[in-house]
Parts: sequence; C-alpha cells; structure tokens
Amino acid sequence: MKRASLAAVACALLASAAVPATAPANKPKPPKPQPDYSAQLQKAVTVTGMVRHERALANIGERNGGTRASGTAGFLKSRDYVAGRLQDAGYAVTVQPFDFPFFQETSPSTLGDFTEGPQDDFTIMQYSGSGDVTAAVEPVDVTLPPTAEPSSTSGCEPEDFAGFTAGDIALVQRGTCDFAVKVDNAVAAGASAVIIFNEGQPGRTDSQGGTLGGPKDVPVLFTSFAAGDALAQDPPAALHIVTTTINETRETYNVIADSKKGDTSRTVVVGSHLDSVLEGPGINDDGSGTAQDLEIAEELPTVLKKPKNHIRFAFWGAEESGLLGSTHYVESLTQEQKDDIMANLNFDMVASPNYVRMVYDGDGSDNTSPSPPTPGPVGSDIIESIFTTYFDGRGLAHQSTAFDGRSDYGPFIDAGIPAGGTFSGAEEIKTAEEAQIYGGTAGAAYDPCYHQACDTLANLNLQAFDEFSDAAADAVVKLAQRPTDLTDNETLAKRAPTTMPFKGPEALR
Ligand SMILES: [Zn+2]
Repeated sequence: MKRASLAAVACALLASAAVPATAPANKPKPPKPQPDYSAQLQKAVTVTGMVRHERALANIGERNGGTRASGTAGFLKSRDYVAGRLQDAGYAVTVQPFDFPFFQETSPSTLGDFTEGPQDDFTIMQYSGSGDVTAAVEPVDVTLPPTAEPSSTSGCEPEDFAGFTAGDIALVQRGTCDFAVKVDNAVAAGASAVIIFNEGQPGRTDSQGGTLGGPKDVPVLFTSFAAGDALAQDPPAALHIVTTTINETRETYNVIADSKKGDTSRTVVVGSHLDSVLEGPGINDDGSGTAQDLEIAEELPTVLKKPKNHIRFAFWGAEESGLLGSTHYVESLTQEQKDDIMANLNFDMVASPNYVRMVYDGDGSDNTSPSPPTPGPVGSDIIESIFTTYFDGRGLAHQSTAFDGRSDYGPFIDAGIPAGGTFSGAEEIKTAEEAQIYGGTAGAAYDPCYHQACDTLANLNLQAFDEFSDAAADAVVKLAQRPTDLTDNETLAKRAPTTMPFKGPEALR
C-alpha cells in the first residue's frame, strides 16, 4: 500500500470519530459487494490444470494394460492418485471399499458361422458364463416380424419355455423385461447357452449388447436383429458357441473427500466416476469428469475459504459395471444423512471430441425416456436452470439430455435427492442440425472412441473441457453459497414433490 492512501485512511478514521453521537445511527449501510466467487473459481480452474490430471490418468492406463477399470491395477493407481491430491488440498479423504462382480472376456467368443460374418453381428453380454457348447437352437416366443412398438416378451415368463428341450441353445428376443430375467428363465429350463437378439425396430437392430447385472452360468451372446432373425427362420440343429470369461467377486472403491468448512445439513455431493471400461483407459469417459472435479476440488479452497454449505467430492468406482459405487454409497447412508444432501452434481464425459452441450433434464420438460416425461426430485429443476442460465449468459447453445439414471446420479434421484449435471455426448450420432449449432461432424458419434482403446489424451476436446469446467465451477459455487435448500423455494412449494423411479442403466434391457 502506498503512503498516500495510508494518510487517507487515517483522515477518514478521524473524520468518522468526529461525527457527533446524536447523528442518526440507523442509516442503512450500502451492502458490501460480494466477491464474484464464481468468476474467481472459473479463472482458477484451468485446462492446463485438468490436462495435468488427465496426463496422470493416461500414464496410469498406459502402465497397466491400457485400462483403469474397477478390479484392475489401473483403478488402484487412479484411486491413489486422486486420494493423494485431495489429501494434499486439505480435504478429509475416505476410501470406501465394496465388493462387486468383476467380469472379463479373456479371449474372443465364437458363434457358429457368425464369427466369420460382419464384425457387428454379435457381442458377448457382460457377466456371460464360460462354455464350449454345440447344440440345437430353439427360438423362444419370438415376435417376427417385429411389431411397431417394442413389445416382445420373449423369455420373460417361465411358461415361454414350456416344451423347451434341456441342453438346447435358447434364442430369445430383446424386449419388455431385463436381459437377466430371460437368461434366468432359460437356465431354469436347462438351456446350455442363450442368444439374445435385438428386437428389430428402428434403433433396435445392432448387436450393441448389454449387461446381465451379475454372473451367469452359461454363455450369453447378443446378436444383431438380422443374425437373430436368420437363426429363428432356420434354427440350426447344431450351433457351436465358445465363450471364455472371468466372473469373480473383487474389491473396488469410492474416494470421498469432504471440505473442512460449510453447513453439513446442506451438503453438495459433486461426483464423477473414476473407473474406465476394460477396453480402454477412459480419458474422456470419465477421466474428463474426474479431472474437472479434481481441479475444482483443488482450487475451491483458494477461492472460497468459508463456503456456506458443505462440499463433498466423490469419485465413484464400478460405474461401468452398473453404477455400483454410487449405489453402494447411497445405500450406505442413513435417512438423516440422505436428508443432509441438498444436491448431487454428476459429470460423466465433459470433453467429447465431437461435442454438444447437454444439461440433464431435471424439470422433465423434454424427457422422451421415460415416457411420459417425469421431472427429477424437486430441486433438480433449479440445478438444471443453474447450468442453462450459465450457458445462456455466455451465449453458448445448449440442449437437454434424458434424465434417465444412466450415470451415477441415478441412485441419488432414486433416493429423492435433487441432482443435475452436464454431458458432452457418448456413442450417439450428431445430427446435421446439431452440427450447425455446435460445429463438429454430423453423422459421427459425439465420442467415436466411446468405450474403446482410443479414448486417450488425443480424444479430448479442450474447448469443450474449458466450457464445461467453467459451467461446473459456477454451479459448485452457486450451490456452495446458496442460503437455503433447493426445496425451500416458493414456486416449488406449489408443486407436489415427485421422485422418479430409478430405471437403472439402459443396458439392462
Ligand atoms: Zn461414463
């Protein structure tokens, strides 16, 4: 400080001391301008900082067989990296262990002639058993040609298998019930293997596969509609199927980091998943959410020394196995602890190479799934508006994305906790309209390396990373400084609370 201003301060002090005691003392002082913590945090959270974390995660992937999946060494190293950084940043760090069903296909599966066919003819289902089976194929209650609406109930009821020859390969059609239900019914009827084929309506024709939710005893493959239809029209008397898999219980972890300050009865859980799939190192999915949240966690205490509300950063394990870490965490809470969580923010993919700006549809205004549209728990609409207001203020286009529980916010909204977040896109295809608005390539996936080995540092869009991390920093500050719960809102009070039933990951059926 310069001398001159010191003198000025002294003068001012003298002047105020000279005010007579009879002067009106209740003249309202102009409100002290609040520092713009949001702008400060956005400035502190840098792409350079996030890329530093991403480099660390990419190195971990490279040194550990190209994966950071739960149940592998790459995940343990990721856990230690994140936990160490958070500890150094002054957080109280908890590593929460839990068991989960680990699954891995250890050599390529074969399915008769289809093994030689187009590559996308079939995939193995997650949690398929191992086996080497040669048997007759028996179609089970299939609907061919498919009806307009998804409606096949193939294999959903045990009665569908009346007359099924034990030892045969069951051929069932996707639709109505979870894949696991079809497989359990088939196994109960003595099936030696199960082929699930896609149902056949537009958008339901490929061999995308999915999860059985837990280990099964027989080989389970998922085929395209075309492959399944061919098998059903002319069921082979002997089809050869080979699957080689590991199904075993392994331990994995959530990393939870609590800020030292803030009202714990208004806790904001800021989450991203720490695990990748086995097929790749997951630098966008979800290294981007991880690096963004870690960067925010490190910078937040430098900007906001005393947040009004408590902030908890969560790095979930086993998201890719079916949101298992976040589910375990929410289930481990008492009702009182759940009540203390005012919001869950979730960031799962925020640097997709061919990105669009998506915000979870918390108010249910544009949901197409589930149908009819259902808003998230009360307060999810406010979280959505925090993000949309931010993007609007920056003149950045945005659109909503289904609030269907496909990522780790699912267990939170299932527990009635308001949630929200952003998303830069996964395997879905960018439309021509979107390319006009956001740039990028129409007709290509938002992330062409989704769940693949090429999800590396080269797969990050740094422009997207910058925009999304600023939006996230803004939301964290807004919620950290919010003087009331998200449900303490006059306009909301008029609306009856709704909770959306948690549908689980889309891949279940
Ligand atoms: Zn993800």
